[in-house]
Amino acid sequence: MNILIWYKNDLRLHDHPPLQQALTQADQIIPFYCFDPRHFSQTNFGFPKTGSFRGQFLLESLADLRHSLQELGSDLIIRQGKPEEIIPQLVQELAIDSIYFSTEVTSEEKNVQKQLSNNLSQSGVKLESFWSATLYHPDDLPFKISQLPELFTTFRKKVEQNFYIQPPSSPPQKLPQLSKIEPGNLPTLGELGLDSPSFDTRSVLQFKGGERAGLARLNDYLWQKNCLKNYKETRNQMLGADYSSKFSPWLANGCLSPRLIYDQVQKYEAERVKNDSTYWLIFELLWRDYFRFIAAKHGQRIFYLSGLQKIKLPWLEDWDRFDLWREGQTGYPLVDANMRELAKTGFMSNRGRQNVASFLTKNLGINWQMGAEWFESLLIDYDVCSNWCNWNYTAGVGNDARGFRYFNITKQSKDYDPKGDYLRQWLPALQAIPRDKIHEPWKLTKDEQHDYNCRIGVNYPRPIVDFFKSIQHNEKLYNS
Ligand SMILES: Cc1cc2nc3c(=O)[nH]c(=O)nc-3n(C[C@H](O)[C@H](O)[C@H](O)COP(=O)(O)OP(=O)(O)OC[C@H]3O[C@@H](n4cnc5c(N)ncnc54)[C@H](O)[C@@H]3O)c2cc1C
Repeated sequence: MNILIWYKNDLRLHDHPPLQQALTQADQIIPFYCFDPRHFSQTNFGFPKTGSFRGQFLLESLADLRHSLQELGSDLIIRQGKPEEIIPQLVQELAIDSIYFSTEVTSEEKNVQKQLSNNLSQSGVKLESFWSATLYHPDDLPFKISQLPELFTTFRKKVEQNFYIQPPSSPPQKLPQLSKIEPGNLPTLGELGLDSPSFDTRSVLQFKGGERAGLARLNDYLWQKNCLKNYKETRNQMLGADYSSKFSPWLANGCLSPRLIYDQVQKYEAERVKNDSTYWLIFELLWRDYFRFIAAKHGQRIFYLSGLQKIKLPWLEDWDRFDLWREGQTGYPLVDANMRELAKTGFMSNRGRQNVASFLTKNLGINWQMGAEWFESLLIDYDVCSNWCNWNYTAGVGNDARGFRYFNITKQSKDYDPKGDYLRQWLPALQAIPRDKIHEPWKLTKDEQHDYNCRIGVNYPRPIVDFFKSIQHNEKLYNS
């Protein structure tokens, strides 16, 4: 039997259910990746759907996958075009009997699959999808996805009652040799219409795509640097490589399996230490699982303006203010520093993401979909379910029934960057301002502005909105 493994966001050899299954059945295994031009088009609001940071990470991940497959005697077949058109051609060319791939839960991906299925309906070729992306396999959940609790805490408590994660499978040792077929070139960033991103030395990490680099980061974070033991205490910081795991880009591209991370955490607990931090990393991975299951349950609704809660709000499409937000020119240092970090590096901490999303939606009242699409374009770890569900949540239209909640940006800044080191890293204009004044530069007197070489409105912007007045205004709209 000839089986095509259609790789998408599962760019690895370890713990790869479609590949594992194919190994037990196939004479020929044909690993395949298709560059879909729609991934390199524009979002609804006109941003590049795949920005340079993610584009580069993807190319690195594919180069690594190809290399690993070649080492096992196989290769990665690469084509460019719509998968629903390219795959039927390959089916003919290579006499393929079955197509195995990892399950996707969101609409664009499902539509492609549906069209492919239509195009192959006369061919007798079998399409089979395998759940590959989460810790929990849906079959092991104590409820059906259609009955998934709408609150994360309820979900977590239920799954934790009888916690069972299937062990990860090992990578294959050998693969069948490919018959004669043109492997196809890995395109360059330029060929995909993207510029090469320049590396900013302030980046939290020099992210490199691929399974090898993902496994190396896992090893580094847990075993070499022993960071996991303090994860719960450090995870809300914003500076440096090790305050959090930084596993997200590898998870998003499938270079790391969450079950392998779980397996390693268990070993770490047995060999080093078991504490709140080791629990907390798994707790965060459960959030990731939860959002994927929520997306599977609610389908298109995670993308709707009214969100999962179907709340109709008079969101603004104020491009002037949106531009100030995305350029880091709002006059609120915590927001500006984070937005500049995102633009320069493709990454932002979880603390930062929550604050900037809160500011966009609760202070500026701007359409949260614009923020979600800006993140989609820039984030190196963009994951459709995590991104859109987190935005639902922060915009107050998600499946948490807790009403209008906002982040007090100045308080957050003082709590999570007490010395102002993070702000100084990204906002050179605030360089000389001492720690007790840096979080609220608009309060500097004329003399202080002179002394600290920072004239508000000249070197650094005045706040674009009054913090509490804008909150009150948007809260009223939310509750009316
Ligand atoms: C508005 C907004 C948008 C976001 N968009 C994305 C996105 O596109 N892709 C993405 O992977 N994460 C997203 N997140 C979640 C979170 O910010 C990142 O997963 C995290 O910052 C990645 O850094 P890390 O790997 O060091 O995380 P760690 O703190 O080390 O956490 C370990 C892993 O747990 C998972 N995780 C942690 N927090 C969350 C969360 N809130 N939701 C879902 N999974 C989580 C991630 O897979 C992460 O890699 C978003 C959060 C917000 C508030």
